[in-house]
Amino acid sequence: KDEFESPDFYQIDDLFTEEQLMIRSAVRDFVKKEISPIIEDAAQRCEFPEFIVKKMGDMGVFGPTIPLEYGGQSLDYISYGLMMQEIERGDSGMRSTASVQGSLVMFPIYKYGSEEQKMKFLPKLSSGEYLGCFGLTEPDFGSNPSGMTTNFKEDGDHVILNGSKMWISNSPKADVAVVWAKNEQGRIKGIIVERGMEGFSTPEIHGKWSLRASITGELVFDNVRVPKSNILPEADGLKAPMSCLDNARYGIAWGALGAAMDCYESARRYAMERIQFDKPIASFQLVQKKLAEMLTEITKAQLVCWRLGNLKNAGKATTAQISLAKRNNVAMALDIAREARQIHGGMGITGEYSIMRHQMNLESVVTYEGTHDIHLLILGHAITGIAAFK
Ligand code: FAD
Repeated sequence: KDEFESPDFYQIDDLFTEEQLMIRSAVRDFVKKEISPIIEDAAQRCEFPEFIVKKMGDMGVFGPTIPLEYGGQSLDYISYGLMMQEIERGDSGMRSTASVQGSLVMFPIYKYGSEEQKMKFLPKLSSGEYLGCFGLTEPDFGSNPSGMTTNFKEDGDHVILNGSKMWISNSPKADVAVVWAKNEQGRIKGIIVERGMEGFSTPEIHGKWSLRASITGELVFDNVRVPKSNILPEADGLKAPMSCLDNARYGIAWGALGAAMDCYESARRYAMERIQFDKPIASFQLVQKKLAEMLTEITKAQLVCWRLGNLKNAGKATTAQISLAKRNNVAMALDIAREARQIHGGMGITGEYSIMRHQMNLESVVTYEGTHDIHLLILGHAITGIAAFK
């Protein structure tokens, strides 16, 4: 049997097309070959395995829904979701790299960029020749990005950009940054800032106990002169970055499922093999309860992802529907990681197993791209029509 068994209690594989299953299998093999053997060591040493960017590009996991003419693969959103599931089965940090590149850098350039910007950046981002990052969060504005203070002023055929961004995945290694900043009228616009522009720096954030194999940093703009041709012409207002987040959060809902599946499978195998009181620990009711609840929650999350993927493919998925999936699936994965850790006993805290790494990673995933509570308030807004977070 496949070393990475997918829990598929409700025969959900029957709902996927042949092509989607082939894509899942190819990415699963990629993760097994390229990510699983190196990831524990990279996370322990808190090092971003930079070589993976080119390999991911070759594998086609960056912006796969983007049309072929821009270097994408014109794939559907379930295929994209399955890719994120498999990568996060390996590591949430690696999935973060792919999510940022595809959903937060390529997607805004594709959706809001000029033809020239698309041709210049998308093929290189797709192949992994360029690494990108997405700058929305600021030191004083996380859940409330509308308050951002990063800003730019006109200066002939350039703009002068000032301010800073915080907690930016990929930033210290990124070649390009899609940055959200206010113009002189206070409107939020998207600007492509390129490495090497004078006054632009990307200091790394150290000391993380979570997403240790993903590199995180700041973006600092000190009178950076950016050509006006780098402004995304079609992006106007907060809804532009929010639409990117919708795409990334959709991928996270699938990704968290992958992390949960890995924890469940590891716990199931360990429970069958570990003998205490002369029996496999899987024979004790309390352990069976943990496994049964894990499988139940994974099965529910799989159905949510499948249905949401179909809504995405039809262009009908709403922000609130995506919030429900991201919030539920990440919390579910975090609970499963904690329970799986218990099943592994003392071994669960070591790097012998992926459990503790998943658990620590998921502490970031539950916070970034909208915290657990902010997604609850988005749902509350959808239910009542009253925005409780403003
Ligand atoms: P705050 O907004 O200060 O929230 C703190 C707490 O207050 C949370 O529990 C929150 O739920 C709660 N809270 C806030 N407002 C309300 C309210 N109205 N009602 C109830 N509770 C509330 N950002 C990017 O732009 N690009 C990236 O690539 C990126 N990568 C990241 C990678 C990592 C590892 C991490 C940790 C973060 C990343 N982020 C990124 C930032 C992330 O999106 C923010 O951390 C997140 O939006 C929360 O913002 P904050 O940390 O400032 O917390």
